Amino acid sequence: MATVRPWPRGPRQRLPRTIAPFRWEAVSSYIDRLARANHIGVSTLRGHVAESCAARPRPDWLAVVSGQPEQVIRSRLCGLAGDPTALKQYLRRPLCQRCMARKGIHEPVYCYLPAHVSVCHRHRRWIGSPTRVLDDQVDLRDRPTVLSAGRTHRRLARQYSEVDLHDALGDARHILVFWAHAERHVAAGILQNGLEAHVVAYPDVIAVAATLLTARPRVEQPRTPTEPAWPTLLLDRINERTGAHHADATPVEQWAQYRRLFATAVLTTRSDGAELACRAEGSAVLNVPYQ
Ligand SMILES: [Zn+2]
Repeated sequence: MATVRPWPRGPRQRLPRTIAPFRWEAVSSYIDRLARANHIGVSTLRGHVAESCAARPRPDWLAVVSGQPEQVIRSRLCGLAGDPTALKQYLRRPLCQRCMARKGIHEPVYCYLPAHVSVCHRHRRWIGSPTRVLDDQVDLRDRPTVLSAGRTHRRLARQYSEVDLHDALGDARHILVFWAHAERHVAAGILQNGLEAHVVAYPDVIAVAATLLTARPRVEQPRTPTEPAWPTLLLDRINERTGAHHADATPVEQWAQYRRLFATAVLTTRSDGAELACRAEGSAVLNVPYQ
């Protein structure tokens, strides 16, 4: 009996015009640009490269229609079928408009950029969170502290793990929120929402996070009789870095206690349950005084 061969599925031919995908580009952004370059409807092209209307585009089918090597499609695009990586919407933002214009691209190129890619230093523009559209790309030419913080942020991302940096940025925000409340600084950027407030608070958040990351290995050592007064040292260092005059060492003291508690628990037991319990306890310590 003759074997029944499955009906061939998926596209067989490439489109007349190809464009290269950018690293971290959202697949929806790439399909928009590819459709526009070939003067066809976005939904038509999308239906051509996905199993169904609701499905994500298949990398092999997209490689056929775009004429790009499948490896390039897989390594650069985010949101393809079969990719288990969860897409974090807060990381989705357009690449620098002026960088794109230099390449002859005049439409937004949306990417899931890592958090530390927050500034285009060539054009001195803000491209970090919570940018949503091209008009959100704030001009930073007269904001040297934000530009400098952007460079520090990239250095920290090279120097530390993603988890450590993420934790330090969260702790830095907690500490700055504590001071803003305690000092009744209700207009502080750290207490506000929105793009401008985020950009205003950014240099301080990065400076505090950098201080915490530098101090962490020594703070986490077991206590010794000759141990320096960490909270005071950290407070001085943060004031020096940010140009502020915070006087209350409570949040840095709590941070140091939490780090030591966490490090001790990890040293004494590697059980996941103990680590999680310790993390929860530490978070509670950091969260209590923010009212
Ligand atoms: Zn640029």
